Amino acid sequence: MKAGNQNGGSERLGRLRRTAAAYQERYGSLPGMDAITGTASAIATRRRRLERLQREAAEVQAEIAATEVELARLDEWVVFCLQESIERAQREHAEGWSPRPVLGFRLWRVADDALYGVRLPWTRPGMIATCLKGKGDTEIPHSDGRCGRLGCGVYVAKEIDPLLVGFGVAELGDVALGLVALGGKVVEHDGGYRGATAEVIALAATRGARRLFTADPVEIARVFAEPAAIESGEPCPDRARLLDEMSSYIAGQARKAAQWTLETSGG
Ligand SMILES: [Zn+2]
Repeated sequence: MKAGNQNGGSERLGRLRRTAAAYQERYGSLPGMDAITGTASAIATRRRRLERLQREAAEVQAEIAATEVELARLDEWVVFCLQESIERAQREHAEGWSPRPVLGFRLWRVADDALYGVRLPWTRPGMIATCLKGKGDTEIPHSDGRCGRLGCGVYVAKEIDPLLVGFGVAELGDVALGLVALGGKVVEHDGGYRGATAEVIALAATRGARRLFTADPVEIARVFAEPAAIESGEPCPDRARLLDEMSSYIAGQARKAAQWTLETSGG
């Protein structure tokens, strides 16, 4: 728009100058031409100033572009450093926010009102960990030792067998063995993990002379709310083999779940 006006203006100026020059040739000196001659140096000065300013503007533009590139590189560098230090902290403290659930195993004692874990009764198949030592609600499970050597979080075991041995399961009577998916912050230990959240995704439970093996979320929730629901399962005449059957059912569900998470995460 501006350039168009300028071109239009200078075309018109050129035309007028040519006409004036023709008239000067034809009629000799024209009145008022002295004033025009006087402006010639003022025009030349402004032209030179304009060219200098345009050069400077181009230099400033180039400097703006170069600074933008430098800023983008610095941002990338900060992102890289942050990722590095976060990953290093995760390696050193053996913790991570897992994009897919970490699977593990838990054992409960089956009572009339709930399934009992080591520390707490479970009345539903999910658990959100709190710090039982009251050391704050953020960054659970704590991994800086503030709530003791073992620390808070929902615990699961990596293997089934040590659970059965450790609990002295033979003396417990009715028990439930579960496959549990941990979510949120997860801290790894030698024999297991502890996580911020836990969800039971398969359950093998026994009560009296019955057993219920299920991976149906509705049925699992029913058992936690009301353990008597286990009695809707099959009879189990051979109690000696029951623990083996529970183990192999839950181990099979774990393999299935691991396969499924691998497939859905594309890894
Ligand atoms: Zn804690």
